[in-house]
Amino acid sequence: MELKKEGNFSEWYSKVLFEAGIVDVRYPIKGMPVYMPWGFRAMDYMFGILEHMLDEAGHDKVLFPVAIPQTIFSRESEHIRGFEGEVLWVTHGGKNMLEEQLVLRPTSETSMYPIFALWIRSHADLPLKVYQTTAIYRHETKATRPLIRGREVYWNEGHSAHATRDDAVHHVESIIDIYRRFYEQLCLPFKLIKRPEHDKFAGADYTYAFDTVMPDGKTLQIGTVHNLGQNFAKAYDVMFCDEDGENKHVHQSSYGISMRALAAVLSVHGDDKGLVLPFDISPVQIVFIPIYSKGNKNEVDEYLREAYGRANKKYRCRYDDGDKRPGDKFYYWELKGVPVRVEAGMRDIEKKKLTIVDRLGNKLQVDYDAFDDAILSVIKSYSAHLRDAARKFFDDHLSDAGSFDELADIMNSKRGFITAGWCGDMECVEKLKSLAVDVLGYEGGEMKDRKCIVCGKEGKQVVLGKPY
Ligand SMILES: [Zn+2]
Repeated sequence: MELKKEGNFSEWYSKVLFEAGIVDVRYPIKGMPVYMPWGFRAMDYMFGILEHMLDEAGHDKVLFPVAIPQTIFSRESEHIRGFEGEVLWVTHGGKNMLEEQLVLRPTSETSMYPIFALWIRSHADLPLKVYQTTAIYRHETKATRPLIRGREVYWNEGHSAHATRDDAVHHVESIIDIYRRFYEQLCLPFKLIKRPEHDKFAGADYTYAFDTVMPDGKTLQIGTVHNLGQNFAKAYDVMFCDEDGENKHVHQSSYGISMRALAAVLSVHGDDKGLVLPFDISPVQIVFIPIYSKGNKNEVDEYLREAYGRANKKYRCRYDDGDKRPGDKFYYWELKGVPVRVEAGMRDIEKKKLTIVDRLGNKLQVDYDAFDDAILSVIKSYSAHLRDAARKFFDDHLSDAGSFDELADIMNSKRGFITAGWCGDMECVEKLKSLAVDVLGYEGGEMKDRKCIVCGKEGKQVVLGKPY
């Protein structure tokens, strides 16, 4: 199987996601693929890392219904304007038209906040911090792509309510910090960008987004954090009695990371042999492969199984004693992206050694008795190499455009993130769109003065890119 990634990313992506057992797109609804065992496990471990971080920050885990009554969904006017073009409706129960039509949640603000209004009574109930890991629905009309753009999207969404604006602002910052650590653990570089007014979340005061760059130079939004102010609180009467006895609206935030995080991880780290998984999300972290030669199966198994048993107490391990030849096993586990492989054959046994090979091809022979320490250092250096390689690719895709022509040149070659000036007018955005470029926003929320590359008027420095 030919799996060349460079210059061939789109085909590589479809092929590897299927061959490695991530998704099967043959389910007969556009944008609703089946998550296969290997892919769903990896996604589960990935969201597990995030859930653990949110738990540590005081969140509770909840599950709200998938359907939202139309009248409740429509109550926050900006929000409904932002989503009405892509919601999926439930209109019938059996043969009868429903009295009130239902929306399949495109996101859960409008299902949760009427209930928050019942849960929150006094300042003692605040802050309220919950999350759910679940599916959301959007009737995408653009071309869909598994994990990147679909009609059923698996994600983790968090929601909070606070007594004061300051509390909400601090919470937004703390979530940004959690998302930052989450992506560091996945060895994935990103930019934190404050979205411009025209691209913030429908109903939010402001939106911060995490964006990364994909192998084809397009940018991918891989997380958002919104300060909702009191917009939803006012629409849904989410109020609390303050210490001074006064009833006030809460201040809220919401935030989410979807399976796009997995899409980015698989795309950025993968290579011509298949997936290259970050250690913490790989369903199998270390695979043990015995190298049999004539008549020594028991001896090799006994030797290698002992090391496997020890490692399996700490890591997710697999002992592959199947009938395939070692070369075929290597190929299979490399395609799956398993980070570390441990081998032993007669030559290793004679010297009391084990051979460790990481998914990036680094190979070493270690003393049998020093295996535990050796594996730990292999894991560390593997993660460091993965992070460095991803960072190098990311840095190679940062540019600056002093003029519209320069921008056009960059978009015709490597794309990526481009810093440039923008005046804030939508007319200039339209001209940028002629190059398929969008204004992603202000890096880190910074508002540096810079002249617009389209019209020359005073403006601010923004990050541009061609988003998925
Ligand atoms: Zn302009």
